[in-house]
Amino acid sequence: MRLRLIRHATLKLEYAGHTLLVNPMLDPAGARPAIENSPNPRKNPLVDLPESAEEVIAGVEAVLITHTHSDHWDATAAAKLPKQLPLFGQKEDEGKFRAQGFKQVISVSGSADWKGISITRTGGQHGKGEIAKAMAPVSGFVLRAAGEPTLHIAGDTIWCGEIESALREHQPKVIVLNAGAAQFLEGDPITMTADDVVRVCQAAPEAQVVAVHMEAINHCLLTRADLAFQLEAARVIGQVAIPQDGDAVELR
Ligand SMILES: [Zn+2]
Repeated sequence: MRLRLIRHATLKLEYAGHTLLVNPMLDPAGARPAIENSPNPRKNPLVDLPESAEEVIAGVEAVLITHTHSDHWDATAAAKLPKQLPLFGQKEDEGKFRAQGFKQVISVSGSADWKGISITRTGGQHGKGEIAKAMAPVSGFVLRAAGEPTLHIAGDTIWCGEIESALREHQPKVIVLNAGAAQFLEGDPITMTADDVVRVCQAAPEAQVVAVHMEAINHCLLTRADLAFQLEAARVIGQVAIPQDGDAVELR
């Protein structure tokens, strides 16, 4: 397995001999307005891709989309990805992908199998209370294949019961967390804070955690440096990789 952060939640993944793209957000910097009702109102994405969208797409055999908020699936991705690529997502997003012209849309409610890789949906809470309801539904995915470490891509979620039970049930060896502590002007964070990342580390002490979803969207307020500082204070930093855009993750 090889995992590379492209930007934000966009990952390029080599797994079981196949190349997958996760949560493609391929817009150039500044293509979209700031998220409404959010602090730090600047146009999104805040930074450019580390390489061209064409290079990101090159070699991709399938795409995983945890949900279709614009920081996970944007107009450039919908326009540039070949329409015959298999897209794996949650059933609520199937109509959107089909309306955009994609021919092979696979809704993952329980598990799906693709070329020797099993893909299992996990749940999450994209915030608390009314905000979480407004942001729902969201998904995560657990990937398994012979000879590969079990990988959990948790998606946009805070620490919650769904994540706790997913860790217990699937025992992932590698866990990708969407940090950034994304926030609106009011209410609690809707993606993982440093405390949430610490809770995951404590719940899965044998797992390698990879923290992404930072410094690319205006309302993600937790920076990589802040996160590293807090993980160090909580003595879990050795368990967590915090890649820069374009970097392959050093897996333990
Ligand atoms: Zn997000």
